[in-house]
Amino acid sequence: MTDSLKILFLSAEVAPFAKTGGLGDVVGSLPKALRQMGHDVRVAMPAYPAIEAGYPGVEPLPDSLPVPLGFGMLQAGVYHGRLPHSDVPIYFIAEQNLFNRSQIYGYQDDPYRFAFFSRAALELTRALDWQPDIIHAHDWHAAPALTWLATTGQGDDWFRGISTIFTIHNLAHQGKAPWGVFDYLGIQTFSLHEEAYGEVNFMARGIYHATMLNTVSPTYAREITTEAGGAGLDGLLRHRHFDLHGILNGLDYGVWNPMTDDRLPHHFDAENLDKRLKNRRALQSRLHLPQTDGIPLVAMVTRLDWQKGLDITGHVVDLLMRSYAGDAQFVVLGTGDGRYEAMFAHLESLYPHKMRAVLAYDAQLAPLIYAGSDIFLMPSLFEPCGLGQLIAMRYGSVPVVRATGGLADTVLEGETGFTFHDYNAGAFWEALQRAIYVYNVDKSRWQHIQQVGMRADFSWQRSARSYEQLYEWAIARTNG
Ligand code: ADP
Repeated sequence: MTDSLKILFLSAEVAPFAKTGGLGDVVGSLPKALRQMGHDVRVAMPAYPAIEAGYPGVEPLPDSLPVPLGFGMLQAGVYHGRLPHSDVPIYFIAEQNLFNRSQIYGYQDDPYRFAFFSRAALELTRALDWQPDIIHAHDWHAAPALTWLATTGQGDDWFRGISTIFTIHNLAHQGKAPWGVFDYLGIQTFSLHEEAYGEVNFMARGIYHATMLNTVSPTYAREITTEAGGAGLDGLLRHRHFDLHGILNGLDYGVWNPMTDDRLPHHFDAENLDKRLKNRRALQSRLHLPQTDGIPLVAMVTRLDWQKGLDITGHVVDLLMRSYAGDAQFVVLGTGDGRYEAMFAHLESLYPHKMRAVLAYDAQLAPLIYAGSDIFLMPSLFEPCGLGQLIAMRYGSVPVVRATGGLADTVLEGETGFTFHDYNAGAFWEALQRAIYVYNVDKSRWQHIQQVGMRADFSWQRSARSYEQLYEWAIARTNG
């Protein structure tokens, strides 16, 4: 049994307060699992408009937080609350000009916004008189904290000896910034080989400075050390490959449970698959699709982003809707890149009686799609872990995925889903056809695949034990 550790999580997103994808889900769940194991985990994130407007259960701290920056002191506000259904404290760093904006990301000054957040969150530990054993930073937004700790922070007794973990959720977003961001933070350091002249790369910095590193699946951990998967940082990652681990994300079973999910009209489990059918009808009715039984209802729920394999999806959906694999229905829920929104809107206009493109973010509709569809598509170009396929399996929708990153680690061909390797529409279509063939001709095998997926253990308890091990290694490293 490990001693109780004090761990501070730093993240730009924490569900349910702010989420654009898997990062928010992870940081909303993992701390709760670690808390259950007896650790004193706390979380820090920026205060976006929902918090400033008054979030139930979230209160401001009475004192403002002085944040020392290169040019002097800036005051931040701090709100505090708890992660839902837990006693894990969460702190929100407030600065009207930086965080009270309509979006989480997408601004020119993003590196400065998150540099401020990172530095303020470190300073908060002093204000709370709570000295963490571990700072656990997530993605590039929190990496400025690791750079500061490894440089200027070494001269500060409060922070000396703290171990750090850097978790890479997505190597594609690296947080490149002008060098002036280091002046802003009061950091003097040298340039990394991976940084262009006059440029900071916060993802590279996180990798370089953290005591230990991990990504969110073992396969992705291997892929990013190759030139093809390394997004320019593979050399640095190879340099640190002994310290780089792969830990699969879990699912928050408190949220994602088809027996209790209050967003579903009908509850079911692996023993009661017939009740699933009612969700399928509810989904068809909600989408104004014919309530036809016995044909595959194929679905996607995804950010409409190039990494998600959408370049090979249009052709496959077209073949599916032309009934080249028999009659079928298709629904996509997603928002993002205008090119892909236009593609799906166009396909819907061609096949309005059997396809829906819901081009929105809809947290209520997503569970019904997982619970009401038969086949769930994730043809990702790369996928650090992927939660969509885990939720789909838990809700009895059989995934068809490209065997990359976490998809390769979680979906087993013919056992829990169907997989393909080459990134092209032909390979994707073949895998989908294999799935549809089993669906159409071998119902009992189909049901078996559904049930094996539904019973698989993707709980956070399992992953949290691996993180605990990583924390121990990091502390051992720091203590020499
Ligand atoms: P990523 O983090 O790259 O977006 P993941 O598969 O790890 O991909 O996580 C995606 C999460 O976001 C899942 O919980 C999925 O259900 C949810 N999601 C994605 N797009 C939408 C949407 N348009 N509406 C509702 N939920 C969505």
